[in-house]
Amino acid sequence: KEFKEYKLDVCREYMRGRCTRSDQGCKYAHPPPYVEVIDGKVIVCFDFTKVKFVSPFLNI
Ligand SMILES: [Zn+2]
Repeated sequence: KEFKEYKLDVCREYMRGRCTRSDQGCKYAHPPPYVEVIDGKVIVCFDFTKVKFVSPFLNI
C-alpha cells in the first residue's frame, strides 16, 4: 500500500481549544492528543481517501 508522509502546520487556535472550524474546514492540522507536535508541525500520512495522523516516534 502506498502512502506519503507530509508535515503539516498545526492550528494554533486549535491547540488553545479556540478553533471554531471543523477538522476538514480548517487549513491547519487538528491533531489528536496522541500525536506529538514538534516545532508547531505534525507528520501525517495521506492514504488517498483519508488523512491519518501519525506520531513521528511510531515507526510506521
Ligand atoms: Zn483550526
